[in-house]
Amino acid sequence: MAQTISLPIAGPQAPCDPFAQRLAEDGQTLTRRSLDTLQLNLGKMCNLACHHCHVEAGPSRTEIMPWDVISRILAWLDRHRQTLGVSVVDLTGGAPEMNPHFRRLVQELRLRGLHVLDRCNLTILLEPGYEDLCEFLASHRVEIVASLPCYLEQNVDQQRGRGVFHSSIEALRRLNAAGYGRPDSGLRLDLVYNPVGFGLPPAQQALEADYKRQLGARFGIVFNRLWTITNMPIQRFEHQLRRQGRYEAYMQKLMAAHNPANVDAVMCRSLVSVGWQGAVYDCDFNQMLQMPLGAGSAPFDADEHTTERYSKKLWELTPAELIGRRISTAAHCFGCTAGAGSSCTGALS
Ligand code: SF4
Ligand code: SF4
Repeated sequence: MAQTISLPIAGPQAPCDPFAQRLAEDGQTLTRRSLDTLQLNLGKMCNLACHHCHVEAGPSRTEIMPWDVISRILAWLDRHRQTLGVSVVDLTGGAPEMNPHFRRLVQELRLRGLHVLDRCNLTILLEPGYEDLCEFLASHRVEIVASLPCYLEQNVDQQRGRGVFHSSIEALRRLNAAGYGRPDSGLRLDLVYNPVGFGLPPAQQALEADYKRQLGARFGIVFNRLWTITNMPIQRFEHQLRRQGRYEAYMQKLMAAHNPANVDAVMCRSLVSVGWQGAVYDCDFNQMLQMPLGAGSAPFDADEHTTERYSKKLWELTPAELIGRRISTAAHCFGCTAGAGSSCTGALS
């Protein structure tokens, strides 16, 4: 297990953090209030390589959370979950199902009575070796949160790759056949929309009605809720924005649409994100920006592997070090507060 270094306790926000400045102007602070959800990034390997991916995931990535890290996380949960009230474990990646320990982890979490959420790209359900995954997820009552950035083929294939729309529809049919998204089955299936272009998401409720109408009429597909998520101006999407000379305009759009009412509900208030070697971050976006927990607003000056390896691990933290702690912020945080707000469970307002 890698040696860890002590991270600084967060000090005053750096002046270059426009989000912190905006909070200060409005007399707001951002601290963690509770820890309802533990989000585990099981690795960066994915069968897709989408244009907007903030993880920069893809088939050639080799970072995978090993079992010794998972077992330390489970032991930490056993020690602290009652104190903290953790009730949900949110599994993400990459494609979290590609972690060879995925099923064993799900079984362990369910044995502990925890609600498990799988962030599924749908197409993984059709890959060789994963044919029985749908039944496994259903039999363990795992909630599925599935990306589908549009109900139109052209838009989905443009963002996620050729043929992804049809594979996603086939995967949704299989999930429905297993009971997912059906009324009274208790098997929850939520879809995630993110804009294909450079705008903010439209109103969540109206778009959900459109999705239900389109997917139902054309393919007979049913699902529970649609979550709209803003594209974060980081990693692959940031590179795309910069290549096209749109980065500044996009940031201006997010900042102009900042809604102070959303600050109270951003997901980092009640969640922490854990990287593939066990390092802790205020959210998945901070993880991808190498801003480990307690790093203040200045990104840690290291590559992602060094940050992950040497940052404080979940099992080195006590509940008291997590609750009430100031969140590390930077300009990308406007992606969470712009317009109707955005979180890993959709719009905030
Ligand atoms: S499916 Fe998700 S994790 Fe995989 S490349 Fe696309 S956005 Fe990234
Ligand atoms: S990007 Fe992360 S740290 Fe910033 S407001 Fe959103 S959830 Fe919180």
